[in-house]
Amino acid sequence: MDAKKVLEDLKRRFPGEPEYHQAVAEVLGTIEEEYNKHPEFDRANLIERLCIPDRICQFRVTWQDDQGNYRTNMGYRVQHNNAIGPYKGGIRFHASVNLGILKFLAFEQTFKNSLTTLPMGGAKGGSDFSPRGKSNAEVMRFCQAFMLELVRHIGPDMDVPAGDIGVGGREVAYMFGMYKKLTREFSGVLTGKGLEFGGSLIRPEATGYGNVYFLQEMLKTRGQSVEGKKVLISGAGNVAQYTAEKVIQLGGKVLTMSDSDGYIYDPDGIDREKLDYIMELKNLYRGRIREYVEQYPTAQYHGDGAKPWFEKADIALPSATQNEINEDAARALVANGIMAVSEGANMPTTPEAIRVFQEAKILYAPGKAANAGGVSVSGLEMSQNSERLSWTAEEVDRRLHAIMENIHQNCVKYGTESDGYVNYVKGANVAGFMKVAKAMMAQGIV
Ligand code: NDP
Repeated sequence: MDAKKVLEDLKRRFPGEPEYHQAVAEVLGTIEEEYNKHPEFDRANLIERLCIPDRICQFRVTWQDDQGNYRTNMGYRVQHNNAIGPYKGGIRFHASVNLGILKFLAFEQTFKNSLTTLPMGGAKGGSDFSPRGKSNAEVMRFCQAFMLELVRHIGPDMDVPAGDIGVGGREVAYMFGMYKKLTREFSGVLTGKGLEFGGSLIRPEATGYGNVYFLQEMLKTRGQSVEGKKVLISGAGNVAQYTAEKVIQLGGKVLTMSDSDGYIYDPDGIDREKLDYIMELKNLYRGRIREYVEQYPTAQYHGDGAKPWFEKADIALPSATQNEINEDAARALVANGIMAVSEGANMPTTPEAIRVFQEAKILYAPGKAANAGGVSVSGLEMSQNSERLSWTAEEVDRRLHAIMENIHQNCVKYGTESDGYVNYVKGANVAGFMKVAKAMMAQGIV
């Protein structure tokens, strides 16, 4: 394989999809050497088949707002690869959603799911509908209209969506209700469901907790722990909240959280009580992070979309969205003595910023390894649904912990360089790729 040529070809055939090109470039750059040890891969043109999604479903979603107007959004499901299991990946509702972003997410998901050791293929879906500022009734009508089309493309053994940005327990439940009505079947077709109807304990916590478990493993390699460390977190949604919860439990000091308008900096640290306030503000009242400083006036608010990366700390856990750490931010983090960056969000660090972290030899974990805890517990939810049993929180948390340790070991196995530095990007990509590649080779040209 000539990675540069493959990428140029994809850019020519699929123009205007920069996030997809970025995600593919990152993977190709790190697996090329391993890939070229297997001439049979090239003979089967495996790389092209692995980069281009199996299938893309695209549809119009029309719904009625509270004023009686008919509104139209786009809906998508990108089924990237099902070589090792049914398609699996979240649904994102955000104004910024487009096909290129969902293709990047579905591509990443394929390798992430492979890393979890559970039998799940990769997919992603969503809509440019934004739940922000919409009433509960509008969100319900939109979710129902979205499912009227999505129902044709998913199934418990075919494709099992979950949540992502803008899709939490409320949205999953509305979609599940409509799926059930249309199919007259109660099945585990979505994960992240409510506990009363097949959801798994620890699923809401899983991505954030899993990221901190992964961070702990990385810190151990340098004889360090989370206790006493100053931590920058971006985002204030599902992933950010439970990342903060676990950091606080382990004795770390959370200095920042954010939303798309700006970030708060609390020099005294966001403790359990303050986090409860943020959870209520965000989950119950759907408020904005700036309201935090009205409640806790010793904290500062930085608006205009400011990001927390220029504050001094030991650890950064980006947990909002893609490309939120650019080269300047990475340089500032390194200059301020950052020791570890572990990604809760998907692809939050630009390629230039990744280079800065790796050249500085800090601990840097890409999302496809560090945030795999969410989809792992989704996989465990599927197992529980199939068994028609519910496991205890301790049991799920124990399995989550074991999966994150295992992913870390695999990154070390495939990513350790000659000077002993662990390139977690390479480790995650090679480990994730090899399993999918071998399954595709075994199954022939399909
Ligand atoms: P939520 O919708 O719960 O929260 C997203 C948070 O990020 C909000 O605070 C939101 O602010 C902020 N945000 C969203 N878009 C932007 C933007 N363009 N610029 C700045 N801030 C932004 O989503 P999740 O917590 O579920 O997801 C966060 C990240 O984690 C995503 O990258 C997602 O793909 C990834 N992830 C999520 C998993 C999960 O299990 N939920 C699993 C693995 C990865 P605002 O309210 O202003 O929009």
